[in-house]
Amino acid sequence: MSKDSERVESIVSEKRVKLHVFESSQREIWTVVGKGEEYWVDPMGKFCSCLGFYFGTLNGKVSCYHLKSAEIARKENKFEKIFFSDTEFSDFLYGLICDL
Ligand SMILES: [Zn+2]
Repeated sequence: MSKDSERVESIVSEKRVKLHVFESSQREIWTVVGKGEEYWVDPMGKFCSCLGFYFGTLNGKVSCYHLKSAEIARKENKFEKIFFSDTEFSDFLYGLICDL
């Protein structure tokens, strides 16, 4: 098994994929919690905020293990769903971006 698929497996099984739902707009933000940091992923738009993804896309790769984890967790319903109110949306985004 490759290093990446081991990482994907532990992220999914430890439920480190989170879906943040903002009410009442129903906006959704997916994140994957790594070692101490949290990455913003978009399993539908194929995006991850990690450096590996950024440099990977420069080299023609289209994924990273966070994105793979989010896709699998979404498919298998193995993510944690957390509800927020719309008024928290901008603070939440700001926190995510400042973490990068
Ligand atoms: Zn990533």
